[in-house]
Amino acid sequence: MSEIKTVGVIGAGQMGAGIAQVAAQAGLRVILNDVDERAVERGVTKIQAGLEKLVQKGALTAATQAEILGRITGSGKMASLSEADFVIEAVSENEGLKKKIFAEVDGLAKEHVILASNTSSISITRLAAGTRRPERFIGMHFMNPVPVMKLVELIPGLQTSEITLQETRTLAEKLGKVTVKSDDQPGFIVNRILVPMINEAVFALGEDLGTPEDIDQAMKLGTNQPMGPLQLADFIGLDTCLAIMEVLHEGLGDDKYRPAPLLRRYVDAGWLGKKTGRGFYRYG
Ligand code: NAD
Repeated sequence: MSEIKTVGVIGAGQMGAGIAQVAAQAGLRVILNDVDERAVERGVTKIQAGLEKLVQKGALTAATQAEILGRITGSGKMASLSEADFVIEAVSENEGLKKKIFAEVDGLAKEHVILASNTSSISITRLAAGTRRPERFIGMHFMNPVPVMKLVELIPGLQTSEITLQETRTLAEKLGKVTVKSDDQPGFIVNRILVPMINEAVFALGEDLGTPEDIDQAMKLGTNQPMGPLQLADFIGLDTCLAIMEVLHEGLGDDKYRPAPLLRRYVDAGWLGKKTGRGFYRYG
């Protein structure tokens, strides 16, 4: 295995920016790519703001902040990923889009480079099968917000080699994360359990069981969760929640996983949660 010095991150949204931040904080160089140049700018600004908070808290010096930012290169061109020693994809939760991106990056990344997907629910085995290096392909599922949340789920597909799993675990640990291994089944461990709970909360809201505030308060204080399910859905992104429910519904073939109609209506309206300023709550 050659040393990982540069990590390529595809998609500079909520997750991609967070992954880029923790990689740069761990001393790695990062190429942060997005098809949308403004998303790259937004991603870098978000990282800057995240690091600024750490400086204000006294957890980071201004000089270290500058060094970390200096390790991140934003790029609107996929070709820049040919420099990377490890690639993590974090584009929108859409299988067709991810397959297209992996076909492209497979053609330009160095031969030994591991391709990892941060997908929340899509089959790693299927994504791997679309590349010429299925044994060097793996699921690497970070949690949101990446700089705060400790867990990374590692999901080997059917074809993933043991060494690929080990190298990915080593990288995740270098980023300060704790890993668990999940079998490649729809939603993996966390979202198989979490997102149906969120979906049930949306059904409950749609059936007027309570207001969003009361549903969230009930679950926070009644089950000792730091955030209620509707607020959490707003943070995850309602489009992402819907996409995960669709994968669970189709992949597990059980109607208990059908997406709540209200969730679909909010996504149709473009009310995707915090990232668009409106979901179950409004954001300034
Ligand atoms: P997001 O909408 O914030 O960001 C997605 C980014 O992908 C956007 O910036 C978009 O411009 C970019 N993109 C779209 N097409 C692209 C292309 N062809 N090339 C390069 N970039 C492209 O979404 P997110 O919340 O960051 O989610 C990204 C992935 O991470 C999804 O697979 C999601 O399921 C997964 N994930 C999300 C969460 C969460 O809580 N939001 C948690 C874990 C995993």
